[in-house]
Amino acid sequence: MTDGHMPERILLHIDGKQVPAADGATFPLDNPATGEHLGEVANAGAADVDAAVGAARSAFEDRRWSGMRPRDRARILNRAAALLADRIDEYARLETLQIGRPLREMRAQLRRLPEWLEYFGAVAQSAEGTAPEFGTGYLNVVRRVPLGVAGLITPWNHPLLITMKKLSAALAAGNSIVVKPSELGPAVPSALVALLEEAGVPPGVVNSVTGFGATTGRLLSEHPGLDKLDITGGTDTGRVVAGNAGRSLIPVTAELGGKAPVIVFDDVDVDDAVAGALFAAFIATGQTCVQGARVLVVESMYDAVVDRLVDRTRALRLGDPLDSETQIGPLVSGPQRERVAAAVDRAREQGATVLCGGSVPEDARYAGGFFYEPTVVAGITPAHDLWYDEVFGPVTLVRPFRDEADAVAQANDCEFGLAASVWTRDVGRAIRVADQLDIGIVWINDHHRIDPASPWGGSKDSGIGSENGWDSYRGYTRTQSLIVNAGAGSSDWFGSSADLRYS
Ligand code: NDP
Repeated sequence: MTDGHMPERILLHIDGKQVPAADGATFPLDNPATGEHLGEVANAGAADVDAAVGAARSAFEDRRWSGMRPRDRARILNRAAALLADRIDEYARLETLQIGRPLREMRAQLRRLPEWLEYFGAVAQSAEGTAPEFGTGYLNVVRRVPLGVAGLITPWNHPLLITMKKLSAALAAGNSIVVKPSELGPAVPSALVALLEEAGVPPGVVNSVTGFGATTGRLLSEHPGLDKLDITGGTDTGRVVAGNAGRSLIPVTAELGGKAPVIVFDDVDVDDAVAGALFAAFIATGQTCVQGARVLVVESMYDAVVDRLVDRTRALRLGDPLDSETQIGPLVSGPQRERVAAAVDRAREQGATVLCGGSVPEDARYAGGFFYEPTVVAGITPAHDLWYDEVFGPVTLVRPFRDEADAVAQANDCEFGLAASVWTRDVGRAIRVADQLDIGIVWINDHHRIDPASPWGGSKDSGIGSENGWDSYRGYTRTQSLIVNAGAGSSDWFGSSADLRYS
């Protein structure tokens, strides 16, 4: 327990013990809102990754978790959910300190997370095999068995949520785990591992190796001791990790980039549409994979929606993310702010119009942090980089469309296919449009909503497979087909030359 204060040292968690890196290496964790040094984080090298994978392997092989009755695993996951529910305020504060996301948002997000442990505990208890018809005299039972050791690589933008999505499904199915949180958000995922052991998950089943993507992440994803890789991150990272999974011939789930359209039709109220677009674009300071990055508005409403959106964007309150009045925090790091600023500058150079924001705020109050003004850009066409590129910050573009077909064409003109929202009161239109979108998650008159039971995953360059729901659970299992000769008699294949039946 930390009482909401960042621990001075964040250690690795291997085989039930908190340990420093074998070579003692650490790296600093800084507060992106103030630049304050928060603590030192163990920087795992090859020996540590080996030890973590080895511990997970031993735990899997002696069946201390995988061999438990699903009901008993579920009990422990429910206990972990209760412990987590008691620590929401503490963990929310730590998340805010390390990534700068406003505390009010972190609390709202973390309050939901016990649901993942509860949901997947329930799934583990209700999972069933099948018994396909095999033929007279045989019984075929198809079981779902855990894969083994899963390597989870998670990003900084929702450190606990994304770790939780992967980990709860993996654990419920009986796997052992090595998690590699982002170097920018290691504190709460590391705390979660200790919490799980407190709830009763046996030591060695969940291990955590903190470090950098290019070293610790690479070492984990190349490790020959894994049976599954599950990554959330940028598309380039996803390709590297999926390539490593391919070489190891192990399954991979990859939740990658996005450029979500927010499609506004003429039968919605302007204020409702703008409130929705604002929520889509600027929650988490725009640093979410499903951020509403393209606000597409039917021509007849375009001016009204854009004027109101710009007014409301200008009124968003930047500030100290620990202050409950703050709506927009800093970006997570200096390099992240530089990437965002460069994307907006490039749009300007290419002739786009920045309607509001578009720079680093000058007010001295923001000088210590990586703040950037919430930004709305107009005049973007497919000739502009901003039309296609994921910015991952508080920047959205607005563009008119003529009709349904044009809206669908614009929304699909993208290498990503993660999420979209469609704003209309016409049910037929909502379903028609959704049906034509090559996109994994489509909200109607909403955005960002998530549930542990609802699949989360994209098409095209947004990744492979999905989190949440039964598919995710099954993705942490493989089938074992058990074929029982239940009275068909024995046959002596080589004992006669008669025409034999091969099944
Ligand atoms: P990155 O791709 O930079 O990093 C993701 C994770 O991969 C981090 O833990 C990172 O470590 C690690 N990593 C980086 N390089 C390698 C490597 N070569 N081998 C193995 N692991 C590596 O993404 P960000 O953390 O910057 O997150 C932003 C991206 O994630 C955006 O593109 C966003 O769209 C996507 N995302 C997708 C979501 C989805 O559900 N589809 C949800 C949230 C984000 P480290 O950080 O320490 O470098």
